[in-house]
Amino acid sequence: MLSLRRFRPLYGVCRRAQIGYFPRSRKLATLNAVESTYGVSRLEILPGIHTLPSVKWSRAYLIEGDTLALVDAGPPWGARNILKYIRKIGREPEELSHLLVTHAHPDHIGSASSVAKKTGARVIAHRADTKRRGNGASLNYMGVLGSLPVPLPFFERTPVATLVDEGDVLPIAGGIRVIHTPGHTPGSVCFLEEGTGSLFSGDTIFSDGERVSRSVPFPGYDAEAYRTSLARLATLDFDAICGGHGALLKSGGAGKLQELLEARPELPTWRQFFRSIPRRIKKSQSMTGEEI
Ligand SMILES: [Zn+2]
Ligand SMILES: [Zn+2]
Repeated sequence: MLSLRRFRPLYGVCRRAQIGYFPRSRKLATLNAVESTYGVSRLEILPGIHTLPSVKWSRAYLIEGDTLALVDAGPPWGARNILKYIRKIGREPEELSHLLVTHAHPDHIGSASSVAKKTGARVIAHRADTKRRGNGASLNYMGVLGSLPVPLPFFERTPVATLVDEGDVLPIAGGIRVIHTPGHTPGSVCFLEEGTGSLFSGDTIFSDGERVSRSVPFPGYDAEAYRTSLARLATLDFDAICGGHGALLKSGGAGKLQELLEARPELPTWRQFFRSIPRRIKKSQSMTGEEI
């Protein structure tokens, strides 16, 4: 007799592929619970905060309120799916008022230009990850590449409407505070939704759903600035961590970052990252290439 149980593993694979790099853990169970409440297309991981299932490799988040705001836009070719998700939850792409950029690495801003053009959203970023062009500024993909005289294929220039800095409060979701956390890139920022204590941390810190981890060195990485940013971040009051890769940490974010800095004050290296891969595979943890 045909048993449905035989198809369960296949279903698991399909679900993981659909939602990206969330590890198979209780976080996935939480997501599924939310999905069953709202229907399969809605991935509201915290009240008013969605993770975009169509954005692969990195993570992008949609903040839903009177208007909509997007935190990062993922790699290129993702704009169509982002707009599709907005429609699926019963909203219109034109309601997207802001596109918040945590930093200008291509896996986070590849679709930013296209999303901004199609929705009219204002792109918001820190000056240090932009390049001055004429009277305005546009996102600077990565130091050298951003200085090229012509745009790279598939990476259109993204004009920035608002340059933000430390302490600015954006009029989104009851107030989102900008925390300048240079290190991973000079213009890396975290966005703190003050009402809920949710931190959109980009590639400054990540989580696998239980622990906090840090970025490994990339071109443009400044170890000293990064160390200072992490120490300061650990003194702030935040609960959930919505990282640029990995899984959602639902609570205790600041405390877990403090614990990490006390237990392992040295910054992670690529050597440590590569050595950790077998353990990560074994534990089915998120594999992003940027965290440890
Ligand atoms: Zn990055
Ligand atoms: Zn990244």
